[in-house]
This record gives sequence, C-alpha cells and structure tokens, in this order.
Amino acid sequence: APSEESLVDLLRAAAGRFSSRVALDFFGSTTTYAELDDQVARAAEALRRLGVGAGDRVALVLPNCPQHVIAFYAALRLGAVVVEHNPLYTPQELAHQLADHGARVAVVWDKAAPQVRGAGAVETVVAVDLTRALPRAKRWALRLPLAKARAARAAMTAAAPGALSWDALLAAAPPLRAEHPAPGPDDTALLQYTGGTTGIPKGAVLTHRNLRVNAAQGRAWVPGLRDGEETVYAVLPLFHAYGLTLCLTFAVSIGAALVLLPRFDVDQVLDAVRRRPPTFLPAVPPIYEKLATAARERGVDLTSVRYAISGAMALPPSTVRLWESVTGGLLVEGYGMTETSPVALGNPVSPARRPGTVGVPFPSTEVRIVDPEDPSVDRGPGEAGELLIRGPQVFSGYWNRPEETAAVLLPGGWLRTGDVVVMDPDGFVTVVDRIKELIITGGFNVYPSEVEDALRRVPGVADAAAVGLPGEHGGEEVVAAVVLNEDCTADPESLRTSCRQHLTAYKVPRRVVVVDELPRSQIGKILRREVRERLLAQD
Ligand code: ATP
Ligand code: MG
Repeated sequence: APSEESLVDLLRAAAGRFSSRVALDFFGSTTTYAELDDQVARAAEALRRLGVGAGDRVALVLPNCPQHVIAFYAALRLGAVVVEHNPLYTPQELAHQLADHGARVAVVWDKAAPQVRGAGAVETVVAVDLTRALPRAKRWALRLPLAKARAARAAMTAAAPGALSWDALLAAAPPLRAEHPAPGPDDTALLQYTGGTTGIPKGAVLTHRNLRVNAAQGRAWVPGLRDGEETVYAVLPLFHAYGLTLCLTFAVSIGAALVLLPRFDVDQVLDAVRRRPPTFLPAVPPIYEKLATAARERGVDLTSVRYAISGAMALPPSTVRLWESVTGGLLVEGYGMTETSPVALGNPVSPARRPGTVGVPFPSTEVRIVDPEDPSVDRGPGEAGELLIRGPQVFSGYWNRPEETAAVLLPGGWLRTGDVVVMDPDGFVTVVDRIKELIITGGFNVYPSEVEDALRRVPGVADAAAVGLPGEHGGEEVVAAVVLNEDCTADPESLRTSCRQHLTAYKVPRRVVVVDELPRSQIGKILRREVRERLLAQD
C-alpha cells in the first residue's frame, strides 16, 4: 500500500524504474534519477558526519535548485525532519523561525549564510554556492526582487566566513551505508510553516504518510498521466507546501522530469519552455495570467501543457478562459492548506470541472460544513459555514504550539480550516472567505472577497483589497485599497459609485484609497492584514 511507504521509498522506486531518465533540469543542466539517488546517498552521509540523526531538524534556506532537492531527500533518508524557509526572508523572519524549531544544521544558499550563522540553535551552516554554479549569463535569475533587496543587502556578504561548502562536503562523502535505518511512514518528514497570510507562520508537523498519501491522491486526481514521461515545472517555490508536494514529491512519484526555476520570471519560464516543454504545470492564478498573456504576445507554444492545477487563492473564471484558449489544455482549481499536506479538494481534471468552485473532496477525504461558532452543529445543504476536513493527509499539529493545535484539531480528527464555504447539491464546494478576515460593520457581516470582486469589475481597476478599519460607533467600516490600470484616471469617489451596482449599501466601502501595489505573500496572496496596517498608518 502506498501509505506504508516513506518519501524516501518513493525516490528509491523512481531510481529503480526510471534510472536513466532526467529527474532534474536546472537551466538545461540535467540530473538523472540514478544520479539523484547517488547524490542523495552521499549528501546523507555528509549530513550524518555533521551529526544529523533521526528526529533532528535540518533547515533548508534555498531557492529551487538541484541542491534543494538533494538536501531534502538526504535529510529524510536519515530520518531527520526537513524545515523549509523562504530564501528571501529578512534576517529577523529567518531568526524567528530558526529559534522556533531549533535546527542545528542548515543548508543555505550563499547569500543567506551570514544571516543563518548563529541564529537560533544553528551550529553548522552548509553553503551552496549557487551564484557560481550558474553560467554567468544566467546569474540574473537569482537576483532578488527589488522590494526585498534593500532589506537583505545589509546582511549579505559575498563570501560566507564560517560556512562549510556543500560541494566540498559532497565530494568527500561516500554513499551512506544501505543498512542505515530509514524512516517509516509515521515518522515526521517535514515541519512546514504556514503561509503567514493571517499572522505569524506556525510550523505544521507533517509525516511521511501525510505527504506520501497526498502525492498518491494527486496521482489519482489527474487521469492520463504517463509514468516516466511527464515534465513538471517547479515555478512555485519548493519551500512552500504547495510547490513541495505538487511539484517535487509528485514529480518523483511519477518519475517525471522536474524543471527547477529559482523564481517566477516570465522570460525564464518561456526560455525553459523552448528547451523542455512542460506537460504539467501547477501554479497560482497570477502566474497563469502572466504566462498566457506573454505566450500569446510572443507566439510561444504552450500547447504541451496538458494539465494546469491552480490553488492557494481564488482562480478567476476569466483566467481559466485565457489559459485554455492559449494552451488548449485544462486549467482546474483545487483547494488546500499547509495543514493538509496540502491538497484536500479538487475539481475533476476533465470538462466536468466547474470554474469558480474548488471541486469535490479528494479520495479518502471527508468534509463537513459547520457553524463557526459551534462546530458540532452542521449546516444544511447550500448554507455557508466553516469547512472541516478529515483524511490521511491532515497534519498532527503545530510544532510546540499545543493551544493553537487544540484550537484547530477537533476530537475525531476533524481539522478546522478557518474558511467559510458553500457546497452545491452535487457536492462542489465554493470558497467564500476566511473567517478571520470577516468585516463586521453596523452589525452586518461583510466578506472582503465580495467587495473586492465588485471593485475588480469596475473598468480600470486592476486589483483590490478590502479590510475593516475602526469606524464611528466602535465597530468597523469597510475600506478598500485599489490598484488602477496605468491608463485609468478614475477618482476614488467614482469607484465607490460604480461598485454600488453590485453591492448592498452596507457592503459598499466607506472609503477607497488608490495605491501603487498591494502587499503579497511569498506565493502571491494579497496580505489584507498588511493592507490594513498601511491604511491605519496613513490615517
Ligand atoms: P496562515 O495560516 O499562516 O495565515 P495561509 O493560510 O495563507 O497562512 P496556507 O496554508 O499556504 O497558509 O494557505 C491555506 C489557505 O489558502 C486556505 O485556508 C484558504 O484560505 C486559502 N486557499 C487555498 N486554496 C484556495 C482556493 N482555491 N481558493 C481560495 N482560497 C484558497
Ligand atoms: Mg492558514
């Protein structure tokens, strides 16, 4: 049974069945499954010599690159727990997480080495020299986005004194002895921090079984996949739950070639498309939007992509139409969270999918829709309520946070998602919004997504975020921040008038503020809490 295997067994199986096939492609330099297996065994021995053993946390601070994949499986092979981090975190964000989980060994890209040394319980820093590993002409791919660059520059030095070299460690290590104990299905594989959309990220504890099951559920979800024949693109970061499962462990489970892109950049992706065309492309709506538009303008052929799987945020039906007209393939939406390894619901990958919904529960996954005030009370068909999920991919709790765990894991194994949803008579689920972000104004409940949708329908509005700010009678009032298209000259008052057509009076924003851009999370979600803070600071 697949659930009796660990993620390490999955890699071994792929190395056996697809040994000479390409496992990884990084700017055209390739690693076969046999080579990957060998490098993982050497890296495991190198980590063992650094003192890493079963149950120890190993921190990874890496963009998508071959070393990321190798270090991930090497740590798992020893029974250690991988902890993924955003390589563009500020020193403070990184220090906070390193202190939280207490890893003693960290494998990091060269630019992060100085920030990681001495943070938390880190004793040994292994630095991957990514800048040098890339051909000079490709180094721009690792440039930081402008917004983060300034914050990070202070902590950076070109060399990383005190750090060990990944290349040197690997060159010196023989493969780990085959008899070295390997992890079992119920061992912890990953400490995955949540997206941090609504607060400080919490470390979700995920077992090999959780992650292995989710890869198998994904396999069952997408019919017509050919083992050993597919090309999966990792444009999503592997340090995020979504990219880790739907790109990495999924690709390994079907013996696919995984094309690693260090960060999303249209030119980078289109370059790769010409070299090794993708067949399976998991991503988020803004990425599909940008890729399809660019491919159409420049005449790049994306028809190789048979399956595109969107998640993490609402997928606008207009994006589905655009993508499908450009590629001729399917773009379907699923739903998940870090706490569910991450996928829990998905649309059928067929013309039966329903744009605007997140589909139906995965195999062996149960859902309930309940009263958020009292989760023991089920809501009737067609009634909005909080989504509860139970299944083999549901996590076992947050790292060192018993109270937060007890608040979301109910007796009987039900996970509170914190999301309000509605289910139609055929069992298709539509996400309304997050309970935490509900705005209560004059005694009425307003879901920000409804206000944002109305604003986005106003011609000239590119994007919108609605939040609740302190209002007149001690309550909240709806305030929206909008980004306008370049050629749009509409004034805020006219935007308010326009969205009245689509909204009941109490939902119409009391104020609309035009901004240059909206703050987004690592994976591209709008951070309403940050919008709120910025608007409060302006008042
Ligand atoms: P945090 O829990 O730290 O605040 P986060 O919830 O954004 O951050 P993730 O686990 O990455 O961290 O995201 C899961 C959440 O993403 C879900 O609870 C849901 O709100 C949202 N989500 C996922 N898929 C979809 C989707 N298809 N449509 C709308 N929302 C989605
Ligand atoms: Mg969450």
